[in-house]
Amino acid sequence: MAWTPAYRSLYESGELGDRAVRLEAMLAACTICPHVCGNNRIAGDIARCHSAWLPIVSSYCRHFGEEPALTGTHGVGNIFFGNCTMRCVYCQNFEISTQWKTEQANTVSIERLAEIMLELQAEGAHAIGLVSPTHFAPQIVRALVLAAARGLMLPLIYNTNAYDSVDVLRLLDGIVDIYLPDLKYAENDLGYRYSKVRSYAEVSHAAVREMHRQVGSTVTTDEHGLVRRGLIIRHLVLPNDIASSKEQLLWIRDALGNQVTLSIMAQYYPAHRAAQTELLDRVIRLGEYERVLDVLHECGFENGWIQDFESGTSYRPDFSNRAEPFGDASASAVSAPAAHNFQRE
Ligand code: SF4
Repeated sequence: MAWTPAYRSLYESGELGDRAVRLEAMLAACTICPHVCGNNRIAGDIARCHSAWLPIVSSYCRHFGEEPALTGTHGVGNIFFGNCTMRCVYCQNFEISTQWKTEQANTVSIERLAEIMLELQAEGAHAIGLVSPTHFAPQIVRALVLAAARGLMLPLIYNTNAYDSVDVLRLLDGIVDIYLPDLKYAENDLGYRYSKVRSYAEVSHAAVREMHRQVGSTVTTDEHGLVRRGLIIRHLVLPNDIASSKEQLLWIRDALGNQVTLSIMAQYYPAHRAAQTELLDRVIRLGEYERVLDVLHECGFENGWIQDFESGTSYRPDFSNRAEPFGDASASAVSAPAAHNFQRE
């Protein structure tokens, strides 16, 4: 029998609509993310994430640079949401995450967001990739109700900075098929210094635990080897060990076990304001990356991907070209940063 995403049964039972209502209610005194601003976004207030009621879609396209078992041959249908709940000085998507005044021009209706999901399905994407979805979680679920009614059958990938509310994640249980959190800092003071968020370690760890509770350690793939359900934890290695990579890997092993799927990323480069930021103003060194990979193997992790070390010089999105921020889609399958499965060489 053909695989179907979990949200289809929630849609058929009416539960998906009920979840949308419960999530939307949280916007009235916004508690959608751990900043808990309390602003009435339904009335048009904008707070820390510079986002009110309607979603902002800065770009959407099929993207061929995700992990191989997500990308497949037809790519992930990524929807890049404007603005963000974090303020990373090195943000590689800073053109859409920080330019909140210009991003207002990319406000779309809920109906349009649903159409975008269906367009990406019609183009042949293997999944819908929700990139920086946190601050628009209610609007996404509302759009999903519309898209499901019109035949959306693709799994949803929740591609997040992991600064997520557990309460919101619980309402996404059975809606999100694939969680793709980028676990950043293990030390709170570094999270505040470089991304202006408080308690990043505790907040992100609680969020990832909840994601794991929902989908478990085992990643489900289809007959083509494409991921259809599960948790993939990304970790971007930062220069001068600002991401506390060893501590993060030890936490994952101890909290979730070493059978979870990881994606270790080397693509850091000093984007946005990082070139003027001490300790972040360079790409990572080979020795730094190799130390992280040594810990990875010492911990016994076996599932996932390791990005090629050279990725820091090849992965440079350009959102001044909103239609193709990663270059020509037909060429990006070969220009995307390469990754290979965990293997001790
Ligand atoms: S989603 Fe935005 S408005 Fe709501 S709590 Fe987070 S930062 Fe504040």
